[in-house]
Amino acid sequence: MAKDLYFNKEAVMVRNAVRDFVNREINPFVDEWEEKGLIPLHDLFKKMGDLGFLGIRYEAKYGGQEMDFWAETAFIEELAAINCGGVPMAITVQTNMATPAIVEFGSEYLKETYLRPAIAGELVGAIAVTEPGAGSDVAAITTFARREGDHYVLNGSKTYITNGTQADFLTLLARTSEAKGHHSFSLFVVPTNLPGFVVSKKLDKMGMRSSDTAELFFDDMKIPAENLIGTEGQGFIHQMMQFQHERFAVLPMAYVSCKRFIDRTADHLKRRVVFGKPLISKQVLRHRMAEWLAETEALRQLTYHIVRMKENRMDVTQEISMGKLLAGNLINKVTDGCLQMHGGMGFMNETWVSRAYRDSRLLAIGGGASEVMSEIIFKMAGY
Ligand SMILES: Cc1cc2nc3c(=O)[nH]c(=O)nc-3n(C[C@H](O)[C@H](O)[C@H](O)COP(=O)(O)OP(=O)(O)OC[C@H]3O[C@@H](n4cnc5c(N)ncnc54)[C@H](O)[C@@H]3O)c2cc1C
Repeated sequence: MAKDLYFNKEAVMVRNAVRDFVNREINPFVDEWEEKGLIPLHDLFKKMGDLGFLGIRYEAKYGGQEMDFWAETAFIEELAAINCGGVPMAITVQTNMATPAIVEFGSEYLKETYLRPAIAGELVGAIAVTEPGAGSDVAAITTFARREGDHYVLNGSKTYITNGTQADFLTLLARTSEAKGHHSFSLFVVPTNLPGFVVSKKLDKMGMRSSDTAELFFDDMKIPAENLIGTEGQGFIHQMMQFQHERFAVLPMAYVSCKRFIDRTADHLKRRVVFGKPLISKQVLRHRMAEWLAETEALRQLTYHIVRMKENRMDVTQEISMGKLLAGNLINKVTDGCLQMHGGMGFMNETWVSRAYRDSRLLAIGGGASEVMSEIIFKMAGY
C-alpha cells in the first residue's frame, strides 16, 4: 500500500496504537454519544493523554511526543475510522485548533498552565473565533478585550463553538482596537471558570451530533493580561497560521472516510439484488465509484505532498486551501452518491450512510467554507 512508502516505524506505531484505542475505547460508545449529543470529553481526553495521543508533535518538555508531521497524519488517518464525524472533530479541536497557537506563540507561562494539561488530557480546549455576525469574514468580529491594568475585560459572544459546553479554556480571538485593518486583533487563552463567562445555549445540529456545539457569552469577564497569546495586535495573523493546522486535519479525515464509505457501499452493492442481479454489476455505478477512488487517491497524494512541504518548513497555505476545497467537495459528492446507491435504506437514520452524509456536510463549511478557500487559492495564484 502507498502508505508504506511514506510512514516510518514511529508513525506506524502511532497508527497501530490509535487504531487499537478507537476500536476499544471509542467505537463501542459512538451510538450512545450520538444519541446523548455529548461525548464525555474529560474522561476520553484523559485516556488519550495517558497514551500520549494529544501532543504527538509537541515538545517532550510539555509532555508531547516530539514526533513529525507524518506521525500526526497517521494519527488523524486513524481518527477517521471512528464511526461518526463528531468524535474526531472534538479530538482535533484539542490537537489542531485550540493548541497550535499556544505552542507557536505562547509564553512559557501559557505552555505550563494550559498546554501541558491539554496534552495530558486534563484540560479540554475549544477554539472561539466565529460570532453571530462574523464567520467567513473573520475580521468582522466584534468581541472586544479592553486592557485595564494587569488584565483585559472581555465583552461579546461566540457561536458554533465545538466542545463549548465542556471546555476548560478557549483559544479566543478578540478585537483589542477599534482601528481598521488586521492589527486590531489579539488571541487569548480564556479560562472558562472565571466570572462573566456564560454558555448561553447548546445548539441542536443536523449532523456531528455527538459533538457539543455552543453559543458563548462574555460579560465584563476579567482575563489576566498574561493570558494574551503572542503579541497584542498580532492575533489575526496568529489565528490565520493556526487555521492551517485546523484545515490540514480535514484532508486525512476526508480521504480515509471517502475510502471507507466507498468500501462499505461496494459491500452493499454486492449483496443487493435488483432486476435479478447484484447492483455491483451495473457499470454506471462501478464507474462512478472508480472516479471517487481516483479523486480520493489524488487527495491523499496532495496531502502527502503537503506533509513533505511541512517537514521542510515551507509555506503550505495555498496547498492546504486547495486540499480543504477538494476535501469538502469530494466527501459531499461521495456521501451523497453512496446514500443514493443505498436507495431507501440510505435515507433511514439507522443506516451508517445517513450519518456519514449528515456529518460530512460540515467539511465544506467549517474552518473556512469552500468559497473562502477558493478566494485564498485565487489570490495566492497572483492573477
Ligand atoms: C458544527 C459546527 C462546528 C463549528 N465549530 C467551530 C468552532 O469550534 N470554533 C469556531 O470559531 N467556529 C466554529 N464553527 C463555525 C464555522 O467555522 C463557520 O460556520 C464557517 O466559517 C462559516 O461561517 P458562517 O457560518 O458565519 O457563514 P457565512 O460567513 O455567513 O457564509 C455563508 C456562506 O456564504 C458563502 N461564502 C462565504 N464567503 C464567501 C465568498 N467570499 N464568496 C462567495 N461565497 C461565500 C459560503 O458558502 C458560506 O458557507 C463551526 C460551525 C459548525 C456548523
